[in-house]
Amino acid sequence: TPQRKKLVAGNWKMHGSRAMADKLVRDIVEDLPDGTDVLVFPPDVYLAGMVDRYGDRGLGLGAQNLSEHHVQGAFTGEISGAMLYDVGARWVLTGHSERRQYQHESDELVAKKFDSARQAGLTPILCVGETKEEHEAGQAEAVIARQLGAVLEHNSIEVFREAVIAYEPVWAIGTGLTATPEKAQKIHAFIRSQLAKKDVNISLLTRVIYGGSVKPANAAELFAQPDVDGGLIGGAALVASDFLDICAAAR
Ligand code: PEP
Repeated sequence: TPQRKKLVAGNWKMHGSRAMADKLVRDIVEDLPDGTDVLVFPPDVYLAGMVDRYGDRGLGLGAQNLSEHHVQGAFTGEISGAMLYDVGARWVLTGHSERRQYQHESDELVAKKFDSARQAGLTPILCVGETKEEHEAGQAEAVIARQLGAVLEHNSIEVFREAVIAYEPVWAIGTGLTATPEKAQKIHAFIRSQLAKKDVNISLLTRVIYGGSVKPANAAELFAQPDVDGGLIGGAALVASDFLDICAAAR
C-alpha cells in the first residue's frame, strides 16, 4: 500500500483582518511540523500579501472558492483560478457545504470549478458530505457517490492522483458534533471504494481528509483511522496553538 502523506488544511471562512491574518500565519510558519502538508485558506483579499511575506516557508496557501470561468472575462465580482495562481495560490477548495448551501452551488457547478482549478494549475480539494436530513434518512453514501460522480462524469480518474477529497458531514461543521472515528473511517473507505471502481492504484494514492469540528482533543483519534489522511479545519484553524496541535496530531 502506498504511503499517503497527511494533509491538514485551515479554512478561515470569512474571518480575520489583515493584522490577525498576518499574526496567525506568522505563528503557524514558526512551528510547521515535518512530514505533513499544512495548508491555509484565508479570505482572498489577504492571500497575495501572505504569499509575499510567508510563501517560502513551507506553508501551502489557497483560496476558498474560484470562478468556474477560466482566466478572465466580463464576470463582475468573480476571481479566476488563473488570477489565484498568479498571486501564488496553489490550492483551492471546491464545493464547500457553505457554498453549496448559501450560494446554491450545484454538483455540476462544483464540477466546473474543479475543472477550472485544474486548468489553472491549482490543486482542488473537493468537499463532499451529507446534510443532517440526509444523514438521518440513511442517504450519506448515495449523496457522496452523487457528488463524486459529478466530477468523475467528465474527468478521468487520473485527476485524483493530485486532487484531495474532504469528507465533511454537514451536521458536524461548526456544531461541535464530530463523526466518531469509526463512522468517519466507514465513509472514507466508501469514498476510496468509489475511486477503486475506476482505478485501484489511484484510489490508494488519493488523500481523503475529514472535516467537521476537528479539535486538538479529537484529531489524533480521527487521523489514526486507516483511510483518514488528515483534516479540513474550520473554527480551530483560527487559533494558532490549536491548529498547530491538530497538525502535530497528523503523524
Ligand atoms: C469547515 O468549515 O470546513 C469545518 C470543518 O469547520 P469546523 O471545523 O468549524 O467544523
